[in-house]
Amino acid sequence: MSNKDKINVGILAFHGDIEEHEEAIASLGFSSIRLKYLEDLDNLTHLILPGGESTTISKFLDKTGIGKAIQKRAKEKTLQIYGTCAGAILLAKEVETQYPVSNLGLIDAKISRNAYGSQIHSFETELNFKPTKQNFEAIFIRAPKIISHSDKIDVLCEHQEEAMILEQDNVLISTFHPELIRPAIIHEYFLSK
Ligand code: GLN
Repeated sequence: MSNKDKINVGILAFHGDIEEHEEAIASLGFSSIRLKYLEDLDNLTHLILPGGESTTISKFLDKTGIGKAIQKRAKEKTLQIYGTCAGAILLAKEVETQYPVSNLGLIDAKISRNAYGSQIHSFETELNFKPTKQNFEAIFIRAPKIISHSDKIDVLCEHQEEAMILEQDNVLISTFHPELIRPAIIHEYFLSK
């Protein structure tokens, strides 16, 4: 059995850039499913929480019970989870926000929503991914900022002393949009976990 047969990737599919994540995963030769119903979470080994609006996604997580189920699987360490942009906000322990977000609290970090400003303050910058030492162009869209984190967490990418990717056991977050990068190096790393 190849590694690919053991991996079942899901993308939380209530709202956000679902298709772009599907394409990034497909570019690596994997397939994925769209997670909308609680029962589909059971089969997954890997789950991506996409970018979008964290307030909207959090309402669906509450309503469907998927939020609680993700917390359970995360604690059992039976699921690898990657939160990108809004997804990163949802995974943080603490969120600085104007509107309430029911975050899942799965990574010891404090994150501030829309910390660089509004849509017109979206930007691109070159970063280096420490695990593979590869440079890539990162796109930040109304991005959040990691304002503090436990020193027990691995920083996989930083820029001007700000952490841009954090990893704590089975939970990975990035404040930018990795689904827009080719080759899809961050997805590749995530799927190898
Ligand atoms: N600003 C969004 C939020 O706070 C995140 C933006 C994104 O995911 N690109 O939820």
